[in-house]
Amino acid sequence: MRDIRKVAVLGAGTMGARIAAHLANASIPSVLLDIVPAELTPAEEAKGLTLADPRVRNRFAQAGFDAALKSRPAAFFVPEASRMITLGNFDDDLTAVKDCDWIIEAVTENLEIKRSLLRRVEPLRGPEAIVSSNTSGISIASIAEGFGEEFRSHWLGTHFFNPPRYMKLLETIPTPETLPEVVEAVSRFGDLVLGKGIVKAKDTPNFIANRIGTFVTLNVLRVMQEDGYSVEEIDALSGPAMGLPKSATFRTLDIVGLDVVAHVVRNLAEALPKDERRELFRLPDFIAQMLERNLLGEKTRQGLYKKVKALPQSGAGDDGSEILTLDLQTFEYRARQRAKFPSLEIAQNIEDTRQRVASLLQAPDRAGQFYQKVLSDTFHYAASRIPEVSDDIVSVDNAMKWGFNWECGVFELWDAVGVEPTVERWKKEKRPIPPLVEKLLEAGKKTFYVQTNGTTCYFDMRKGDYQALEERPGILLLPSLKQRQKEIKRNPGASLIDMGAGVICLEFHSKMNTIGSDTVQMVHAGLKALNENFDAMVIGNQGANFCVGANLMLILMGIQEGEWEEIHQGVRAFQNANMALKYSPKPVVMAPFGLTLGGGVEMMLHATRIRAAAETYMGLVELGVGLIPAGGGTKEMLIRAMDSVPPDAEADPFLNLKEVFLNIGMAKVSTSAEEARKLRYLSGKDSISMNRDRLIADAKHLALDLVKLGYRPGKPREDILVLGRPAFTKMKLGLHLMRRAEYLSDYDVTVGTYLAKVFSGGGEFTSPQRVSEQYILDLEREAFVSLCGQKKTMERIQHMLKKGKPLRN
Ligand code: NAD
Repeated sequence: MRDIRKVAVLGAGTMGARIAAHLANASIPSVLLDIVPAELTPAEEAKGLTLADPRVRNRFAQAGFDAALKSRPAAFFVPEASRMITLGNFDDDLTAVKDCDWIIEAVTENLEIKRSLLRRVEPLRGPEAIVSSNTSGISIASIAEGFGEEFRSHWLGTHFFNPPRYMKLLETIPTPETLPEVVEAVSRFGDLVLGKGIVKAKDTPNFIANRIGTFVTLNVLRVMQEDGYSVEEIDALSGPAMGLPKSATFRTLDIVGLDVVAHVVRNLAEALPKDERRELFRLPDFIAQMLERNLLGEKTRQGLYKKVKALPQSGAGDDGSEILTLDLQTFEYRARQRAKFPSLEIAQNIEDTRQRVASLLQAPDRAGQFYQKVLSDTFHYAASRIPEVSDDIVSVDNAMKWGFNWECGVFELWDAVGVEPTVERWKKEKRPIPPLVEKLLEAGKKTFYVQTNGTTCYFDMRKGDYQALEERPGILLLPSLKQRQKEIKRNPGASLIDMGAGVICLEFHSKMNTIGSDTVQMVHAGLKALNENFDAMVIGNQGANFCVGANLMLILMGIQEGEWEEIHQGVRAFQNANMALKYSPKPVVMAPFGLTLGGGVEMMLHATRIRAAAETYMGLVELGVGLIPAGGGTKEMLIRAMDSVPPDAEADPFLNLKEVFLNIGMAKVSTSAEEARKLRYLSGKDSISMNRDRLIADAKHLALDLVKLGYRPGKPREDILVLGRPAFTKMKLGLHLMRRAEYLSDYDVTVGTYLAKVFSGGGEFTSPQRVSEQYILDLEREAFVSLCGQKKTMERIQHMLKKGKPLRN
């Protein structure tokens, strides 16, 4: 198979342009083509352009590209990545597919449009070039019917989810004629290069995720209508409470667009005349009414919900807006009504989703009734889809987790609530038992998954027995290492795990992975173990986020008790741990992903190397809680700024300092690992894994490479350039100007001044000086403890702990 080095994306609409953007994120060049417009727009006419002008001819491709560039959340890791895309149109530029290794069709969802475009591509594509469709619902085999054999053997479905950068799922849909090596090449590229989770689906209507996802939604709507739940009640029940995203049912419909949903439902109704639940695949009346009224969701700014400017005293959000709910009887918007279910309120305290759902299912109120109905149907429908949509349950579970952000897959959830009670219920209801479940029970099994010795096994219907989940090379699971007794040491905040091949892992596992004294102790224990028995260390975890920073609750308690000396000692211990990491004789690789904030970034800045997941949102955000980074974060950013001052006499080092001062001062958080590089949190030596699942194994690999290359630590620095009082004055002036322009509050200026003082080396030197790392650390610590003593800092911390967002007091 040829390597995939260049891609053509045909169709620059919502999906095409964003698929090209994500390819660009992965440094893969693409040509993005769309149709040639039939007529000029008034604006083009006014400019005197003609239909022959390339600007007109590429208008659709350009518009799609521009929309991707502007889209929020961002489609590109950094805007500069967009240079990887070349725009064109189907009439003038289709020959560009000649040297593309993969051609992705993403035009309008219409069989004839797709076929006629691909007919033009067929003679142009190079030998062995892979061609795929991003269709969500059209049969893959039918699109290529009658095409040449070579084309058909390189043809498959590749179904990205919207938005392609953020949604992990990529369904591959081979036809019986697709060569296995073609599926393998696309899957490998999708996984390694694009960071996607690959699920192989059969060529059945809407494949796996949309088939089951649409069923779940329509079934929830049925239960709502039958049992009289309100819109708010449905969203309270069908969101995080059962492990589904916050957008639950109705916010999701608004985001996806009611018109798109209607299209999918109609398509399924037509394509599935024999489905046992076909009665559900029709549009509920209220959705038809909404379509008539153009209430399509976010794209028309009104759907099930509508954001309006708030009336006084109406419980408005921070931006002065209020969200209204559509009344499904009158189709007028009304104030939101809070859903109240006693069992739900109690269950919210159960952190583990599987346990929570199991408890909700037993609830004697309307919440319990909802879950009993909805889950019983969901389990039944999903079980009945094996082997129709996929031969195995794991693909179904992965499709739901990766395509719809479900926390647990259908079968995982089912195991948690018990297969036997569900079957008992079905027997009472005289429902047929799906063959998969019959086989499971016949084989004397009670769950779909079992763990044996750290290996996950799933029930394989074909085999009638458990089958070990294939261990994919390049993927290491910390929980399974622990099950294999590889955990060396543990406290409430962190663990040490033997990763094999001489690498030890320091894993955080406190709530939200905050850093507290137990984490700091474990750093020291880890370094000791590293020195005695290992070659390298990885600091990483596989939680929801890498680390949200220091444990603010501990700091707040210290402040409230006036324990200044303890706070002082706590900060010193953290600084010492970070310095010990920095100068560890053996390499330490840190593997951040997701939210990586405050203390998490400080620790990271001291690692030998960073291997970050592409989706890492990092920032030194201490100012938001009235503090400055004092675990060595201010010091490390100062070093990075000053070390990169060009050696020529003309260079103004203050410009570099100003940049990092603004990053910390404005609590900037990167929107990707690539942007974190621009913010200097990652250096040129640090690298990125596109697929978060591979991060820990990649970090281990990197650590071992460093060992092989004979890693030697440096010596603590004595030569850090600080610019003294002139720089302090300039930074203070900057703060003052920003205050005047109302970018900052008075207290922001106070905290910013402490930061400026540390950055300038204490504010006392009258000219630039060279100082040691310890000197800066002492300044950081002093500033931190002083700020802890200020009332407004305490208020900021309290607010953050209560509301999860910064207070600008
Ligand atoms: P879109 O309407 O945003 O874009 C379709 C593109 O096709 C447009 O740029 C349009 O100019 C072009 N086009 C229109 N008529 C054409 C013609 N006659 N010949 C060639 N091109 C023409 O659609 P989209 O949402 O990007 O969907 C593209 C494909 O991806 C569809 O098959 C859709 O089912 C699938 N898909 C969409 C989503 C989604 O959420 N939008 C998700 C997964 C898959």
